[in-house]
Amino acid sequence: MPSRAPPGSGTAWQHGWWRGAKPRASPNLGARPQGTAITLVILHSISLPPGTYGGADVERLFTNTLDCDAHPFYDALRGLEVSAHFFLRRDGELLQFVSCDERAWHAGRSQWRGRAGCNDWSIGIELEGLEGQAFEPIQYRRLAELLRALARHYPIAEVVGHEHVAPDRKRDPGPGFDWARLARTLRRRRPVLAPLALPRP
Ligand SMILES: [Zn+2]
Repeated sequence: MPSRAPPGSGTAWQHGWWRGAKPRASPNLGARPQGTAITLVILHSISLPPGTYGGADVERLFTNTLDCDAHPFYDALRGLEVSAHFFLRRDGELLQFVSCDERAWHAGRSQWRGRAGCNDWSIGIELEGLEGQAFEPIQYRRLAELLRALARHYPIAEVVGHEHVAPDRKRDPGPGFDWARLARTLRRRRPVLAPLALPRP
């Protein structure tokens, strides 16, 4: 069971690591520009091989230990150095790869509201899934828990998809992600995320 420190106890986060997630350190990270406020959350979807769930290859990709000969699709991933702060599996298990105080490498070339380089001021959450496919109810519940914890600790103002910050080249999390459902799940526990905005479905 993930530990759940009471809000405001000061123990839920340590140096950008959330106690509600299992830590798996990725080497793919960098410093955020000094003084940057973390105001954006970017949601993604990923599964390796695409559409196959429950394996360890996403963890391997984010820790540079993926065997790129193990599947034809992986040839395109050779030498890729990527990461996200969090990976939320379809059974609700949550892994954290990078401290939220650091910059993870998830958004690539991106911009939001005219500001480029979203990795600098965002937190990246990968949902185990495939563009166009639906996500699991427990993923919405765990995602809402995580967003609440993030909003208590960082000045998060908006949650968007990778498809919104890189619309010319990315489609995730895709039409299978139900933004209205996430909004409903978040509304159940006001007021923590009252100011938080989601894209209109
Ligand atoms: Zn993505």
